[in-house]
Amino acid sequence: MLNNYVFPAEIATRLRKNVKGALFTDLANRGRYATDASIYQQFPVAVLIPQDAEDVKTALAVAAEFAIPVLPRGGGTSQCGQTTGAALVIDNSHAFRNILEIDLNRAEAEVEPGLVLDHLNAKLKPSGLWFPVDVSTGAQATIGGMAGNNSCGSRSIAYGNMVHNVLGIEAWLANGKVGQFGPYAQSTGVAKELGTFVKSLAEQLQPEIEANWPKVLRRVAGYNLDIFHPQSELPYTSDSSVNLAHLLVGSEGTLAYFKSLRLKLAPLPQHKVLGVVNFKSFYRAMESAQHLVKLGPSAVELVDRTMIDLARSNPSFKQVIETALIDPQAITPEAILLVEFSGESQAPLLAQLQNLQELMGDLGLANSVVPMIDTNLQKNLWEVRKAGLNIMMSLKGDGKPVSFIEDCAVPLEHLADYTQALTEVFTKHGSRGTWYAHASVGTLHVRPILDMRRDGAAKMRAVAEEAAELVRRYKGAYSGEHGDGLCRGEWISWQFGPKITAALGAIKTAFDPQHLFNPGKIIDPPKMDDSILFRYPPNYAIIPLKPALDWSAWDVQNNPVTEAISAPGTGGDPALGLAKAIEMCNNNGHCRKFDAEVMCPSYRVTRDEKHLTRGRANTLRLAMSGQLEQDAISLSDPLATDAVKEVMDLCVSCKACRRECPTGVDMAKMKIEFLQRYKKRVGHSVRDLLVAHLPRYAPIVSALPGLPALLNLRNQVPFIAKLLQWLTGISAARSLPVWRAKTLWKNQTILQEKYTHSPDALLQGEGKGVVLFADTFNAYFENENLQAAIRLLETAGYRIHIPQPTKETRTEQPGCGKQFCCGRTYLAAGMVNEAQEQLSALLTHLHPYAERGIAILGLEPSCLFTLKDEALVMGFGEQAITVGQQAQLLETFLVAELKAGRCQFNLKAATKPVLVHGHCHQKAFAALTPTLELLKQIPQANPQLIESSCCGMAGSFGYEVEHITVSKQMAELSLLPAIRKVPNAWVVADGTSCRHQIQDGVNREAVHIARILAAHL
Ligand SMILES: Cc1cc2nc3c(=O)[nH]c(=O)nc-3n(C[C@H](O)[C@H](O)[C@H](O)COP(=O)(O)OP(=O)(O)OC[C@H]3O[C@@H](n4cnc5c(N)ncnc54)[C@H](O)[C@@H]3O)c2cc1C
Ligand code: SF4
Ligand code: SF4
Repeated sequence: MLNNYVFPAEIATRLRKNVKGALFTDLANRGRYATDASIYQQFPVAVLIPQDAEDVKTALAVAAEFAIPVLPRGGGTSQCGQTTGAALVIDNSHAFRNILEIDLNRAEAEVEPGLVLDHLNAKLKPSGLWFPVDVSTGAQATIGGMAGNNSCGSRSIAYGNMVHNVLGIEAWLANGKVGQFGPYAQSTGVAKELGTFVKSLAEQLQPEIEANWPKVLRRVAGYNLDIFHPQSELPYTSDSSVNLAHLLVGSEGTLAYFKSLRLKLAPLPQHKVLGVVNFKSFYRAMESAQHLVKLGPSAVELVDRTMIDLARSNPSFKQVIETALIDPQAITPEAILLVEFSGESQAPLLAQLQNLQELMGDLGLANSVVPMIDTNLQKNLWEVRKAGLNIMMSLKGDGKPVSFIEDCAVPLEHLADYTQALTEVFTKHGSRGTWYAHASVGTLHVRPILDMRRDGAAKMRAVAEEAAELVRRYKGAYSGEHGDGLCRGEWISWQFGPKITAALGAIKTAFDPQHLFNPGKIIDPPKMDDSILFRYPPNYAIIPLKPALDWSAWDVQNNPVTEAISAPGTGGDPALGLAKAIEMCNNNGHCRKFDAEVMCPSYRVTRDEKHLTRGRANTLRLAMSGQLEQDAISLSDPLATDAVKEVMDLCVSCKACRRECPTGVDMAKMKIEFLQRYKKRVGHSVRDLLVAHLPRYAPIVSALPGLPALLNLRNQVPFIAKLLQWLTGISAARSLPVWRAKTLWKNQTILQEKYTHSPDALLQGEGKGVVLFADTFNAYFENENLQAAIRLLETAGYRIHIPQPTKETRTEQPGCGKQFCCGRTYLAAGMVNEAQEQLSALLTHLHPYAERGIAILGLEPSCLFTLKDEALVMGFGEQAITVGQQAQLLETFLVAELKAGRCQFNLKAATKPVLVHGHCHQKAFAALTPTLELLKQIPQANPQLIESSCCGMAGSFGYEVEHITVSKQMAELSLLPAIRKVPNAWVVADGTSCRHQIQDGVNREAVHIARILAAHL
């Protein structure tokens, strides 16, 4: 499986000498560009990350000179393999992404191809305009990629596809010439020549075009040869003129390389209302679509029962999807249709909503509509709908929903019969389809579950052939949205017949005589089921290895019809589940986001595929399947190589992907696997040991008179900081946490008398007892947080037990130090065995409390969530589960107690604004709501959550000399600017390292929530 291609050194040297951007020819970098969101994989010959248009121009000239194929790439989110190929892949998304012009008067914008749709729309928003091709991947999809695929959004019934919204394209041809593709009547030069050639072909073939061209809005197959005699339901131009740019739209990088694109903007609708129609029968839903579109909606989108159920079983989506149901307690509807009306004022929209309700009554479905006027509710529901594919793709096991007939488009009057017949085809082939998406235009997404490693290819062909028959019967388009790529290229001739296919070939040759642009797409396509092109071909094999953590929950297979999952550990993974967990990444690119939530902080600052969750998952997959460089190291341990280190280096273990990756790729745990193996190979550095063993030596340091003060000199004497940087790699530009001589442990009498209770004793009296875990950071460096927490809990009437090992514990539990530890610092250094020892002692101590239902409270999120996360996959069984269930942050506990009326606080009013920064692990476990709720107990506090990703400190990461720059860049993305804007605010941050980043970055003290609350007692 190893890709042996060697990029000619002479050409690499030429390119490197003449471009500002980076050229990669190694296997790992090529491997990260070998896939898109399809089932295919083809290694590029090399990858270029251009810095600007000049770089692309140079690369195209060199490629033409040496006859090297070229593949332009945006976000790489295509579903059909069109972004994979043995070519020089040029990634526009890194830097070739400027907005060149926004003309508000003409409502037009000119942009470079690598610009992401959402970024353009964010820029346009203040002017009340938007680019309305609203693809679900709007946060990742680039304008160049959208034009390449002729992408279509949920609202295409109102706005059309890309082809209806692109006004002009300036593009390089394979010979390096630049063509201005725009209105044919005004065209000149090479664009005019090519346009005239295509016009003559179109005229000759007019009868064939009339006969064979599907008459639906959603047809994206082949090239748009019909621009001279449009066949689409919606004219390509408002005045029926011919625009040559439309020839390039949908050409999938095979005709020309887009340099810039001129776009038609639309007024941003000021008002929207939604009517969610609940159906007891899927067939009725499909039948209704043709009637619903007559009401003039801006969208009619389907979500079927399976998807509703999947969304209901996902904590992130449950509440939202239930807002769409007439009765969440009743049986789930077989389908819902989201019918949206939009316009300049609300009153007419409400009338349209009323019309919808009446129409459904006329159709015999009275009271089936949930009216949704609230914009937030609507927005949240659209997010669930947009996550449709990703929700489906979270299925564990080797069988996956495969896209190849996922976007056939049929006229609406046939939609019900088509979907029913296709469902029967799936049943016949032992599979099942989940349906969702664009009912308004007859394009429903459906992916049968196939196992491409086993019998998937044969079933794929059989299903495709029968689906094609249905498309023909109902006069539809086989390729209706996502493009042709590798999975539908061979169906172009089926759709259009031999004459038109030959004409498409002639167009290709006219534009690109050597066929260098994205070969094998649209023209001369391979067979869709050629397993040599598969990411998981039948000979795909994993190098056996025994992971440090328990991954058996991923080591399963699924039933393609019921989607039932086999028992953990039965999936046959030679890496005991780790490989299958990595393979959950389907390359959808959702981690390439910059605004909402957290994932993936290292990509946000580098825009580099290798510092992205997807890049990491691909690298791990390639390593574990022996597809990277094979040397003694990779053969003995594929995860311990430098190639894997390179991608893991900037992963800050924020755990955001665990929650935000739609398929649950948990890179933070995978990093533990990597670190354990890599450090075993290269050994631990002094810095690793200093960080990892901190919980062991902290009690000794703080107990030795004078030592804390001596160590704190490091923050005051620059020479010591420099020396320490040289010796350990801890950056001199960072202040270190300040050692305290006075800690909680100093007064053992009080500790023993007041804060040491057996589980039963703790429950005596009113039963208001809690365990408060004193972690190393709060105990030895920020004792005031612990004291504040104790004060709060005591004020509210709780008896507190603070875990402390006894002499016996230390004898019985080898490895247990003077204080308990959750093992976090050891995990961060890849010392899994040591972490296990620490956790074992702590869990043994906590278990009897947890068993009695006593809450175990923590202050430091990264320590507390170790008990709820890693501890569950480290072989502790029921003990860890029981403790994990009781473990919670202080605020989670207090909010629940307040709500239950078991405690109350009389707090003074706030005199300053309150800003809140959530620790990544709080966000990953959806534990920020209690933080805000508890802060609202302070009268007039009105806490404001800072929309921030990772603060960039991430444990020891931000202290490391080689990472300090990236760390600061992460903080400057949104966190620090937001704090600077409110100079007099309290800044609340539960994470120790977050507080340090804030202190270092804006010279402001951030406080733990316990402290702000205690200050208002
Ligand atoms: C979860 C999910 C949901 C999706 N939802 C939708 C949807 O709602 N609607 C929809 O239409 N699609 C959808 N897609 C498919 C895909 O996201 C879109 O087609 C998207 O527009 C592709 O953008 P990209 O930047 O990732 O392009 P890429 O995949 O990188 O490229 C797409 C094509 O354009 C070509 N190209 C890129 N740049 C240039 C250039 N400068 N010059 C010439 N050719 C170029 C490429 O060679 C390739 O053939 C979805 C995909 C996923 C994974
Ligand atoms: S890591 Fe997750 S979010 Fe990123 S591409 Fe893979 S599946 Fe999508
Ligand atoms: S843990 Fe955080 S930094 Fe690492 S891959 Fe996941 S989102 Fe990115």
